[in-house]
Amino acid sequence: PEPPDLEALQYGDVAALLPVPGAESDKYSRGVVGVVAGSERYPGAAVLAVAGALRGGAGAVRYVGPGADAVIARFPETLVHAGPPSKAGRVQAWVLGPGLGDGRWAEEAAADVLAADVPVLVDADGLRLLEPDTVRTRTAATVLTPHAGEAAALLGVAREEVEAGRLAAVRELAARYRATVLLKGSTTLVAEARDTPVRVNPTGTGWLATAGSGDVLSGLTGSLLAAGLAPRDAASVGAYLHGLAARHGSGGGPVSAQDVADGIPAAWRDVR
Ligand code: AMP
Ligand code: MG
Repeated sequence: PEPPDLEALQYGDVAALLPVPGAESDKYSRGVVGVVAGSERYPGAAVLAVAGALRGGAGAVRYVGPGADAVIARFPETLVHAGPPSKAGRVQAWVLGPGLGDGRWAEEAAADVLAADVPVLVDADGLRLLEPDTVRTRTAATVLTPHAGEAAALLGVAREEVEAGRLAAVRELAARYRATVLLKGSTTLVAEARDTPVRVNPTGTGWLATAGSGDVLSGLTGSLLAAGLAPRDAASVGAYLHGLAARHGSGGGPVSAQDVADGIPAAWRDVR
């Protein structure tokens, strides 16, 4: 029979994929996430991406960018670095883009991160700095996490066209960039360049439609990539936990993006 076009992860699937530390674990084996995010204009995006990575179970988070003061004020456990990302030390997955802007530093940092032989998640402003050929020829996995507007810009079509054909759009982006693509929205979709079924996230909630919640998802998914999950699993488990975390962040009512990050541990306990 033909493989199905779509599939949804269930509780049990997610539980089996969660990277739970054991006696042998140390911070490196749990995964070091590198975050390149934030700008003078959007320092909070860096804080939220770091929050997602820390709550998502990273063994350590390295931050490289112009928002180090804000990051350290909120999360003193973050390792901050000046200079190019490639000089920051060991990193098992990079998160590139939330609030990054499009200045000269952002461009150089993006090129540096994309040249690394480790998985890279690209979101938000990072998506505007991508050349398809640079992504296609990467040696490690790339995960792109656009919302509909960002997906439309990548495809060179109107946002309405993406909204009207989300399944086609996510598949086309995955093929064009030879990447794993998580298309955000009320039903989040995850597609691969390979012809595997597209995963539909069942846990979304309209409360996630709040500024900064996407930045938290970037960090959270980055932590799962750093722990060694396959890109498709990291993206779909990230979306799954993100939806549950929004419900936990406030006990069911409105949430801020920070609340979503704070709800991740409870989402994790739900699933295990
Ligand atoms: P961003 O667009 O980067 O700010 O990310 C917004 C986050 O909220 C993504 O994870 C979306 O999937 C999620 N989201 C936005 N609107 C909705 C909605 N109506 N229902 C469920 N999730 C949503
Ligand atoms: Mg966003």
